[in-house]
Amino acid sequence: MSIKNIKDLSRLCIHTATTRPLPIEVTVELYSKYGVKGITLWREAYEEKKLSEIKRLISDRDLKIISICRGGFFPALSPEKRKIAIKENIRIIDEAYELGAPLIVLVCGAIPEISLDDSRKQIEEGINEIKGYAESAGIKLGIEPLHPMYADSRSAINTLKQANDICDRINSKYIGVIIDVYHLWWDPELEKEIKRCGQMDKIFGFHISDWKSPTTDLLNDRGLMGEGCIPIKKIRGWVESAGFDGFHEVEIFSNMRWKMNQELYIKEIVTSYLKYS
Ligand code: ZN
Repeated sequence: MSIKNIKDLSRLCIHTATTRPLPIEVTVELYSKYGVKGITLWREAYEEKKLSEIKRLISDRDLKIISICRGGFFPALSPEKRKIAIKENIRIIDEAYELGAPLIVLVCGAIPEISLDDSRKQIEEGINEIKGYAESAGIKLGIEPLHPMYADSRSAINTLKQANDICDRINSKYIGVIIDVYHLWWDPELEKEIKRCGQMDKIFGFHISDWKSPTTDLLNDRGLMGEGCIPIKKIRGWVESAGFDGFHEVEIFSNMRWKMNQELYIKEIVTSYLKYS
């Protein structure tokens, strides 16, 4: 299969967490200056701000909000705590609605005191509980499987198969999947499950970055596209063959790059996106 190179920035989105040191006003200005077309908002980027103003700020720069990060974190030791998590997710759906964002990324959660099986049950129960509210608001929820190194405390959903299976059981057109190459590149079933996900019409988002070798920090040492060992173009080919035609979202947490000049960093992102994605 030949994969076409990316020729322009019409499908480039950057997550605000990628350029975390910048205030939202500057983020929006710089993304727009360098031709980025989409923005995924991490909640920290807009907390304590007026959502209507953030919405205007973004549309004034001709940027499109692709998604909100992040909801989820369903598993908890007590029913009371699980209820709090549901309330928090309802609040995020309200925020997405006010911002005009079509999609919320779900980092499903896990806690070390609960077995993975129980966490998975609680996650599915949680999604089922907020599903109706999301549907009535017209907001999609994307389950993002996380790399198994985070199975203790961030997500008990670790493969695309697990996420696909949940979608299959829940069967709502508002529940789908986020495919993040950083979390899924190692999975021998990836191509097959991407195909399946596409057949179910469940590919809601596509996140890119690279896996540096060695990785010095399991959370905040992600690489720019081309800096690591993930076959990004190959995976993009699978995702696109499965019918996905949405944005390519650059999501990089990097202590090293957060220390550098963020405008130069955005230029680097654009260059490596065109060359290696
Ligand atoms: Zn992601």
